[in-house]
This record gives sequence, structure tokens and C-alpha cells, in this order.
Amino acid sequence: MRNAAVPTLLPVYNRIDLTFVRGEGSWLIDTQGRRYLDFGSGIAVTGLGHCHPHLVRTLQEQAGKLWHTSNLYRIAEQERLAEALVANSFAETVFVCNSGAEAIEGCIKLVRRYWWAKGRPERVEIVTFEGAFHGRTMAAISAAGSKKLTEGCGPLLPGFRILPFGDHDALERAIGPDTAAVLVEPIQGEGGINIAHMDYLRGLKEICDANEWLFMSDEVQCGVARTGRWFVYQHAGFTPDVVPIAKGLAGGVPVGACVAGGRAKGLFEPGNHGSTFGGNPLACAVANAVLDVMLAEGFLDRVKAVGAYAERRIRETAAALPEAIAEVRGTGLMLGIKTVRPNTEVATLLREAGLLTVPAADNVLRLLPPLTVSEEEIERACAIIGETLRARAA
Ligand SMILES: *Cc1c(COP(=O)(O)O)cnc(C)c1O
Repeated sequence: MRNAAVPTLLPVYNRIDLTFVRGEGSWLIDTQGRRYLDFGSGIAVTGLGHCHPHLVRTLQEQAGKLWHTSNLYRIAEQERLAEALVANSFAETVFVCNSGAEAIEGCIKLVRRYWWAKGRPERVEIVTFEGAFHGRTMAAISAAGSKKLTEGCGPLLPGFRILPFGDHDALERAIGPDTAAVLVEPIQGEGGINIAHMDYLRGLKEICDANEWLFMSDEVQCGVARTGRWFVYQHAGFTPDVVPIAKGLAGGVPVGACVAGGRAKGLFEPGNHGSTFGGNPLACAVANAVLDVMLAEGFLDRVKAVGAYAERRIRETAAALPEAIAEVRGTGLMLGIKTVRPNTEVATLLREAGLLTVPAADNVLRLLPPLTVSEEEIERACAIIGETLRARAA
């Protein structure tokens, strides 16, 4: 009884026949009352764990006050969210939407408008990278280009040049007069936890600066504190132009944002872009509650410390299982184990032993615990991985 066919739902997911009814911190409880340690967090979404008391309180309070007004009016919660994002990043301006793909879409339009406004509308080509994932809209699948995402959905949006990830020479060769921007996912999540070398990112930024390309860092999965800093680009020590974020931003309530600064601000006028739901009071109140917690003194330091602990313990656990785990990738609380057996089989074994992980490309299983995970919970996960793989997966 592994996968459930639900005839009334479009079969775009291979659903596991398991339903959760409750969440408590790092734990999920199913219909049978069984507890699972959640090292998926949705997919890097519930960064503060399930039902964090400050988030629950905020959602309940806001639900009794106001859910929705149109963006035809000022929305205090949206303004507060934008102020917090601006105060804590390179950003000077924010567009709030509902998902990662929408944030990507907004960023791509922003690049187009940038060159249009400069009188160079033919400059539309965006350099992207193999193995990246940017979402499911037509623009986002065109940007990523993989057959799995695009097959049967053509014609795709033109204007993307997809290069091998991490290959500086390929970048140099790609420089052309119509290139407009680069869109890079600095730690590829869906692609199997592939980290861009910080020197490669800096080289990429230098090429951008030399050729006036806009630099976009897709931090929908890796951003919002998962690596112990607000954004991954901060580890490389430079300032991008545009950053789409989403997944962890409101702890499970759908919110995305396109944050931009410098030359990438001020490119839209009323009517150029928008969203009915984007930035509504309910979702933004919860995003603000997430930021209350994450911006509190000591939070990022703790994420760094617990991330270093998780990475060390997962590497030690994997080193003791060379016949089952080929490689550990990632950093902090964004880790991947490349398994010897098919990753989905290993995910099933771990799930049956009470640990939830998320498969990714390249036979990798992602470990994306909540940022609030405890050292005991990390030990529990390592014990499950060790026992399960020693007993059955070798
Ligand atoms: C999930 C993801 C997206 C798309 O986000 P959705 O909310 O699913 O539209 C875009 N980019 C990256 C890096 C992602 O991981």
C-alpha cells in the first residue's frame, strides 16, 4: 500500500498513502496516531516547525480581524513585511505574491522591463543552469528547460540560455550582446542539493558586472535563513539585483516575494504587474510572525550552530554506511544523501521507521528539518538512518 491513486485528482503526484492530521514542532502525526520526525518540512516550507505558537496565535488573531482587501488599498501587514525584508537584505523594493513560481515570473518580467526601459528591448536572453528548478509556470519551466518539466507543454518561452552548472568557461563563452541577466539557484534543491562554489558565484557576479547583466539568485528553497544566513548570496559576500523567495517565508501559508534593489528597482508602474491574492493581510500577518521569530536576537546563530551539528552528525552517520550512502551534500540544515539503492526505496524504508525525507534528482534524499530542530531530534534521525540502512538497505 505505497501509493494512492485518487481518481478525482489530476495525477501529477505519486502520492504516498499516508495522511497527517496534526503537527507539533518537528513531528507529524498520522491518522493512526503514529508519529513521524519531519525532515522534509513540506519541502523546506515549515521552517519553524508545525504549529509554532506565535504563528498559530497570529493567524487566529488576524483571522478574526481581516483576511482580504484588494491591493487597490494600502495593506499594513504587507507594508510591514516589505519593510522587514528591506531592512534585512540588499532589497529596496518588494513585490508580494503567493508562490515561488510567481516570484520567478515577476523577476523575469522585471529583467525584460529593465532592458526595455533602457531602449534595448532585444536584450532578453537570461542565462540559467542545468539542474535548476524555478517552478511550474511557462516561464519557469522554460528557464529550467528539463525534459521532465517541459515535455508536451511547448512552445516554450524563448530567451533562456541553459548552461552547465559550475562551469566558468561555459559562462565566458556564453557572453553575447543580447544577454540580459543570469538566474542562478545557488544551492539546487530539486536538482539534488548541488552547491555552487562561492568562487564560482563570485566569478558569475563579475561577469554580470562587466557585461551589465542583472544578477538573480533564486532563493525560493535555500533562502530565508535555511543556511544560517538570511540568504545564500550573503555567504558569497556580494549584492544581487533581484531575489525571488517563497517556501519558508510564511511557515506554510502561501506567500512569495520578489525582492529587488539598486538598478532593478522602480521598473514597474501601476497596471504593469499585480496579483489578486498576493500580499493579503492574512498571509502577510503570518509572514511577519515568521520574521518576528527569525529576526529575534540569537535565532540565526542557533540555526548556524544546529546546522553545523546536523551536517557533522549526518556526515559521520554516512561515513559509517559506505555501502548504503555514496555521498553527503549540502550545508547546515539543507543536506542531501546520495543513496546507493534507489532514493525512493530508501525514503520508504526511512518513513516506515518514522523519518520523513524528500527525494530529489540524482538519487539524492533531502534532509530539510525545521530550523527549530533540536540536537536530540537530529540524533534520533541519525539513529533511524543508521539502523535502517545497516539492517535493510545495504
Ligand atoms: C519550489 C521552488 C520554486 C517554485 O516554487 P512554487 O511555490 O512551487 O511555485 C522555484 N524555485 C525553487 C528553487 C524552488 O525550490
